[in-house]
Amino acid sequence: MRRSIATVSMSGTLRQKLEAIAAARFDAIELFENDFINFSGSAIELRAMAADLGLDIDLYQPLRDFEGMPDAVFRRNLDRAERKFDLMQALGAPLMLVCSNTSPLSQGDTERSAAQLHELAERAARRNLRIGFEALAWGRWVKLYAQAWRIVERANHPHLGLILDSFHTLSLRDDPAGIAAIPGERIFFVQMADAPLMSMDVLQWARHYRNFPGQGQFDVESFFEQVLLSGYDGNLSLEIFNDVFRETPNRRTAVDAMRSLLYLESRVRHRLERLRDAADADAAHAGAREAAGRTLPRIELFNPPHEAPLAGFGFLEFGVDEETAQALGTLFEQLGFARVGRHRSKAVTLYRQGRIQLIVNAQPGSDARARFDAQGPSVCALGLEAADPVLAANRAGALLSARYDSPRGPGELRLPAIVAPGGTVVHFLPRAGDETGELDADFVPQPPRADTPSSCGLQRVDHIAMALANDQFDTWMLFCRAVLGLQAGESQELADPFGLIRSCGLANSNRSVRVVLNVSLSQRTRTARQVSATGRAGASVHHIALACDDIFATMSRVRANGVRCVPISPNYYDDLLARLDVDETLVRRMQALDILYDRSATGEYFHAYTEAFADRFFFEIVQRNDYDGYGAVNAAARMASQEQAGAR
Ligand code: MG
Ligand code: MG
Repeated sequence: MRRSIATVSMSGTLRQKLEAIAAARFDAIELFENDFINFSGSAIELRAMAADLGLDIDLYQPLRDFEGMPDAVFRRNLDRAERKFDLMQALGAPLMLVCSNTSPLSQGDTERSAAQLHELAERAARRNLRIGFEALAWGRWVKLYAQAWRIVERANHPHLGLILDSFHTLSLRDDPAGIAAIPGERIFFVQMADAPLMSMDVLQWARHYRNFPGQGQFDVESFFEQVLLSGYDGNLSLEIFNDVFRETPNRRTAVDAMRSLLYLESRVRHRLERLRDAADADAAHAGAREAAGRTLPRIELFNPPHEAPLAGFGFLEFGVDEETAQALGTLFEQLGFARVGRHRSKAVTLYRQGRIQLIVNAQPGSDARARFDAQGPSVCALGLEAADPVLAANRAGALLSARYDSPRGPGELRLPAIVAPGGTVVHFLPRAGDETGELDADFVPQPPRADTPSSCGLQRVDHIAMALANDQFDTWMLFCRAVLGLQAGESQELADPFGLIRSCGLANSNRSVRVVLNVSLSQRTRTARQVSATGRAGASVHHIALACDDIFATMSRVRANGVRCVPISPNYYDDLLARLDVDETLVRRMQALDILYDRSATGEYFHAYTEAFADRFFFEIVQRNDYDGYGAVNAAARMASQEQAGAR
């Protein structure tokens, strides 16, 4: 499909916007009127600038408050439109977007609106321009695509068509199922936007919170499927009004934008293939193969390598210096990890417990060490187990993730790797056997030290939580869905003593990989401090949850080994007894070990937290019994305790 984006979706001057859009390989732009009005050059200069960048100007928008007006206003509106037609011809923009009228002067008379749009289309036709009519969700008379289509159909002019925008349809919870019945050639343009579900005034929602498909909670795939079933084969475009995007570096926004379209196309391609298979199966019985071929579109949609299902966390790698490596190694041993290997050629140590592998990288000159120098200790890389690691990396590359190559010695392991937003490296590795790991090839086994504590019963990584800058949340949401194939759960707001944290968990279908995204809406929270320590990266792992099968045994051992844990208020346990029907003996056992508790319809969750390492990240010990969440109900207790423990 032809891919385009509205200039309003990006930060920067118009030239900077166009450069970022071109770099992300869009075919065209929608020129937003204000961007042109505030541009210091002429229409001819803008046209040349776009052409130099390989971009067409496919649409000029918007012409507001046009249709359904009293006659005198209508005549002035035609003069206004003619001036804009002059401009469009200078720009080489073939299509004008007219959005439904919001003016108190307008009249809800379909015949009048149709006649006036017909006249506008007639004027446009004289210059070989076209008019697209779009229903705004807050239009005075026309809010729904079906209402706009009724007027376009009535006007019946070949230079007048419909413009669809998923935001206006989905924000009003209108059913997109009628779109497929509209003749595709009468739909002149399609804009796709997603958004988080919110209950607020639709105009405010639209102007400030739209985001790219795959970043929000709308069913944009069903909408786009309906569009394609109509036979539409024009632009797939993005028109996003978003406060955060207005300040996000526009190169990142443009890549997110393109990734969102590629992902949307690939998802809807699958849906259409399933429909086609079903139609073919039907046709084999009913002899209606020809009919199926006619009704299902044969449009070229992006087709990336298949998803390579993830199987778990293979390892976490920490970037440190020599001194921090010692301190972190001591903490790992107190948590029951064994130091099992030393890298053959680098200052890198491998720790293991159950299926968990932790790598401490202090190699001078390495990317891990550079990251330590810039940001302090952090998780600089992740290993994700994938059914097919090369396929996983190829798919990530097709969905615009940069590949990563690490320097390595002769015979050392090469794992396909990519760079996640903000710079964390993601390696893909095969699912480890029970005895040996893929990593063993690179490590010289270490004899166990006599004074090393034994295992604390930690089995696997349950989840990692990312602390994100505000402008990284949508980027990460799309990365986790499109590149890692994770599905988003519900978004929550958690109360830190110094502000709200917005949190959303994502997981793969068998829950072997879980990632929680946390963004602080306040600058004063611990999460916000952890983000600001990352500088421009704006993203880092701020906690690592490790699962065990008996949290009481594990926490007893961890604490006996001297790990400092976050103390929980006695008031929490009294409240727990009042709130839930839990056995008091069990509650007092939890209290003795500062273990938090949550219960769902299906199961229960026990969890406890270590104090932060160097104020950068901490560990959560969890026991999950048929429970699918993250103990969000306890987040406030944990954050308050962390602050009070820090204050002491
Ligand atoms: Mg729109
Ligand atoms: Mg957690």
